[in-house]
Amino acid sequence: MTATIIDGKSRAAALDAKVTDIVAGLKADHGLTAGLAVVLVGDDPASDIYVSNKVRRTEATGMRSIEHRLPADTGEDTLIALVESLNADPEVDGILVQMPLPKHIDSDRVVMTIDPAKDVDGLHPMNAGLLVLGRSALVACTPQGCVDLAKQARGGDLSGLDAVVIGRSILVGKPVSLLLQNENCTVTMAHSRTKDLADICRRADIIVAAVGRPAYVKADWIKPGATIIDVGINRIPAPERGEGKTRIVGDVDTEPAKEMAGAITPVPGGVGPMTIGFLLVNTVMAACRRRGLPEPKLD
Ligand code: NAP
Repeated sequence: MTATIIDGKSRAAALDAKVTDIVAGLKADHGLTAGLAVVLVGDDPASDIYVSNKVRRTEATGMRSIEHRLPADTGEDTLIALVESLNADPEVDGILVQMPLPKHIDSDRVVMTIDPAKDVDGLHPMNAGLLVLGRSALVACTPQGCVDLAKQARGGDLSGLDAVVIGRSILVGKPVSLLLQNENCTVTMAHSRTKDLADICRRADIIVAAVGRPAYVKADWIKPGATIIDVGINRIPAPERGEGKTRIVGDVDTEPAKEMAGAITPVPGGVGPMTIGFLLVNTVMAACRRRGLPEPKLD
């Protein structure tokens, strides 16, 4: 068997096109331009690239992009004051504070300050709690991307499938497992203390790997035909590209895994592009909810 490659880039492009239509409709029908504010503290090169991509794709959909780049020595109170001013700004529908923040800033305090109605990263405890309750919430973007790609691979219906989520972080593993339960999957959450992980994985119709270890999930852990969603982003040495060069790989040993899986996300080009896709979706959803407008349909 050679797995179908689940193309996150083209799915994310389709989501962006849908958001572009919704943004145009909101402008035409309600004179409304949704706005996303992105805050970056410091000059971490990877975060700088993420923020630039978010700004570019926000503007491409016709939304307003508001960018705040603050020096690395910005005080916690200054950042909190900025978030409070964005909470109060009627032109801002979504607020994203790029993580990780410099060590002297308490990230939890910053996240708790964001108005839950504008928390397009879905990290505020109010939104995390609504997800647990199975109620309408702004849900973290990468987990939404994982489940969307699994649905694309499975014809839209995950009901009754056995899923294993490897990783239990607040950012990825926990929300993915809750979203899969909402899709009526039977979910096993695995983590660093899980025993017999390979055996547990061999029973799964869907494996979501969010571990942060290169090529950790082996081909012989995979049930023939299973759907594999590889969330990992790991930078490893790539001497074949020249001295000191690196490349990005996922948490799954992709090439051999393709011979067992029914469908698999590549790294890069799988889950990664979906994260910004759902950030933009969350922003238009937040813009509508805040104004009591009906939520736009994505399908
Ligand atoms: P994290 O906070 O470090 O969590 C890693 C999880 O993996 C933890 O729950 C940990 O278990 C578990 N784990 C560690 N070693 C394990 C092992 N040997 N066996 C089973 N489980 C193990 O990482 P994260 O933020 O969830 O991110 C996970 C990966 O996804 C990283 O590579 C990250 O770069 C990537 N990521 C990608 C995107 C994207 O857009 N594509 C977005 C976010 C993250 P314990 O809880 O027991 O420690």
